[in-house]
Amino acid sequence: MASPTLTADFAHQFPELAKSWQAATPPEPRLLVLNEKLAGELGLDPAWLRSPDGLALLTGADVPDGAAPVAQAYAGHQFGNYVPLLGDGRALLLGELAGDHLRDIHLKGSGRTPFARGGDGLAVVGPMLREYVISEAMHALGIPTTRSLAVVATGALVQRETPQPGAVLTRIAASHLRVGSFQLAAQQAHATGDLGLLRRLADYAIARHYPDARQAENPYLALLAAVIEAQASLIADWMLAGFVHGVMNTDNMTISGETIDYGPCAFMEAYDPATVFSSIDYAGRYAYGNQPLVAQWNLARFAETVLPLLAATEELALAVAVETLEGFMPRYHGLWSAGMVAKFGLAASVESIALVDQALALMTEHQVDYTSFFRRLAHAGRGDTAALPAVFGDWLPRWRAMNPDIDAMECVNPVYIPRNHLVEQALTAAMRGDLAPVDQLLGVITDPFRQRAGLADYESPAPPEFGAYRTFCGT
Ligand code: AMP
Ligand code: MG
Repeated sequence: MASPTLTADFAHQFPELAKSWQAATPPEPRLLVLNEKLAGELGLDPAWLRSPDGLALLTGADVPDGAAPVAQAYAGHQFGNYVPLLGDGRALLLGELAGDHLRDIHLKGSGRTPFARGGDGLAVVGPMLREYVISEAMHALGIPTTRSLAVVATGALVQRETPQPGAVLTRIAASHLRVGSFQLAAQQAHATGDLGLLRRLADYAIARHYPDARQAENPYLALLAAVIEAQASLIADWMLAGFVHGVMNTDNMTISGETIDYGPCAFMEAYDPATVFSSIDYAGRYAYGNQPLVAQWNLARFAETVLPLLAATEELALAVAVETLEGFMPRYHGLWSAGMVAKFGLAASVESIALVDQALALMTEHQVDYTSFFRRLAHAGRGDTAALPAVFGDWLPRWRAMNPDIDAMECVNPVYIPRNHLVEQALTAAMRGDLAPVDQLLGVITDPFRQRAGLADYESPAPPEFGAYRTFCGT
């Protein structure tokens, strides 16, 4: 197979938001993991991707004719503080793969770019494998996400606290348009009074992600509503799965509604809305239970960017934007409630919600492992009442009296998630050169709902000696 054809759609249409750039050439590239299934879906030949030419593509060392790799510019609120220019400091958009719709092929860890500021532009093996594992787990759970095609070790050492082996991750995404991309375009509109770039960006987002909005009476308001809907659904998915993103800055929120930028993210074990893993999230801004509110805050920032496109006067624009934003929380709550009662095998009703609330309160009070609780509950529903902690003794008969659908529960409640201690063990082994635990973990978590023999270790929370889990960004 020859190298794939890449378009340079974004690069050509948005020179203002794209700096042509060339990836660093890795001294000794070595493929660590390749997503053969995803490659197949993208029409890429896994055997070719494993060849020297394939590795040259996966590291950006050599790109197909016609491709025009760029570092994308964007702004963003980081922990609530506005940064007028962020951009891909260590990433490149290689181009788009054509198909039913365009899919970005993007590299992370491919060297310094003009947006690198103080950073070295590099990434290391552990965190890139971590993004691969967690994003593929999210996909298997049915949660919209960017995908991971491959991780290639570069053969170079990267200076962190200690020298670490470098790596490049190849990421596939519906696009890399972020709230922060719109913030940069809106900033330019404010500075120059010229709405051209902002309007083109909104038109591009509509064409690429929400083509129905074009037919709406007010396409830009329809775009805002569609992004709000996509995010309400995404955040409900995260909350139902117990996923903590960890760094929900506006530059890490996509317009497409895919989860992006797996830095300090992790899955919650003991149920607790205050759960925070990120070592730099001192105030708990991005705690598990805060995610819906933060998403709403980020969407308000997005709404501000499109205000000049929404109506003839600022007053009118503000009124329709606020009204549309006000739809977020009720929509999120509706999706969350429907998903949560389904996790309990129940149909939606006032009684179901009350029962769910009581169970969540018991889980918080007694630090019950969130993911395994639902599968244990299904066991209890089948008659094994010892499957649940004794504190559920009074609650259980009331739940059983509501005739829960146990078979349905087993379709929506995963057995296997990437447990923090197992992810750490697998990454530690990979850093030593042993990729078997990562491969095994991937095999387990990419088929999360079907319980298999011999995998009991993957079902359980971390042993107490693992301690409080801390994660890091920008690594
Ligand atoms: P993130 O926390 O991954 O969303 O990154 C926030 C910003 O920092 C983005 O603009 C990244 O491109 C940039 N960045 C993170 N790590 C590095 C690095 N090692 N070198 C250069 N830029 C980086
Ligand atoms: Mg980011």
